[in-house]
Amino acid sequence: MSDWTDCVISSEASRDGFASLGIPVYRASTIPFPDAKSYQARHERGEDGYSYGLSGTPTSRSLAQKITALQQGLRTFLVPSGQAAITVSILSFVQAGDRILIADTVYPPLRDFAERDLRRLGIDITFYDPMAPDGLERIICDKTRLIWAESPGSTTMEVQDMARLADIAHRHGALLACDNTWATPLYFKPLAHGADIVVEALTKYFSGHSDVLMGSITVRDQAAAAAIKGKLSRLGIGVSPDDCSLVLRGMETMPIRLQYSSDITKRLLSSIVEQPSVDRILYPALSTCPGHEIWKRDFKGASSVFGIVFTSDATPRVFAALDELKVFVIGASWGGTRSLVAPMPVKANRTAKPWNGEDLVLRVSIGVESFADLRDDLDRFFNYLNRRSIAAIQATQST
Ligand SMILES: *Cc1c(COP(=O)(O)O)cnc(C)c1O
Repeated sequence: MSDWTDCVISSEASRDGFASLGIPVYRASTIPFPDAKSYQARHERGEDGYSYGLSGTPTSRSLAQKITALQQGLRTFLVPSGQAAITVSILSFVQAGDRILIADTVYPPLRDFAERDLRRLGIDITFYDPMAPDGLERIICDKTRLIWAESPGSTTMEVQDMARLADIAHRHGALLACDNTWATPLYFKPLAHGADIVVEALTKYFSGHSDVLMGSITVRDQAAAAAIKGKLSRLGIGVSPDDCSLVLRGMETMPIRLQYSSDITKRLLSSIVEQPSVDRILYPALSTCPGHEIWKRDFKGASSVFGIVFTSDATPRVFAALDELKVFVIGASWGGTRSLVAPMPVKANRTAKPWNGEDLVLRVSIGVESFADLRDDLDRFFNYLNRRSIAAIQATQST
């Protein structure tokens, strides 16, 4: 062959005697076929076959398999973000004229997608109170194709009764989907509690280092798997094997990161609860959290994300107090090694059951730094907040 051709064609070095504990990164768009006949018959390779890189390489399939096992499902599909896992799941099952019931406490971009895009597609969307599943019996109808749950709810942390939702959905011929990002399958397995579809933002605890975006959709039956596989290939959505390799690596330490982070979360919470500027803490492991009894019954643990609702006189000072933090990072997303805080508005994102508290919940995600450093950082934050709150109280008393 000429030099030019030698430059183009690579032959793989011997793999004899080689092994690695990590999953290799296989990149491919083209998958070469041994002959024209097998290319012609490529669609007969079935769901696990390879015919084009978009539907996966051994790297992404290894990650998908690993997630399927943890979720106790049949098949997992990987998509470029947690939000894509939500939208693809919905688009795979609903069409014009259908109704979808969505928990009032869902991840806010899902509310936005439902109101802007699903409505425009002629889909009837109805938000429901996640703490009152009986109310679903009144709004579910034979046009209802899907009930969407997120447990616990975004920011306000209401824990939903999955078995009850599954019973209602299935009696009316609808599917139940659950966003399980907060718990991960280590602490809750929605499919084992009756859900048909479970989505995870792998961006969070799975990848665990705040540097990759990915989502997963796991289903438990063949019909749902075929619907999602078809939709993904028609939409042209796939994931990068390099990103899969990062998630595979992150997953190896997920149990130990989660355990450490949730242990120190509980220790930090015991002093946060006592702070005079704190009205209440939103965290499923606390008896004051809506759905705590369900959490106790169904979940194996609590992860490291919680919300803080401040007293009305402290709330306006929260932004300034956040600037006192030196270890915590201010930013969106969570589930990485770094502890994060993000002030979240709630009122505009609740329609089925209005939010009556202050319109600022501080979402806190605990990472893997030392307990003492996080405690000292929170002390700085609360000292500022309490000092200013006491000054405010004294000011009103003196007038
Ligand atoms: C972060 C998050 C998502 C979206 O994940 P991205 O990968 O950031 O798109 C979806 N659901 C929940 C509950 C989340 O916390």
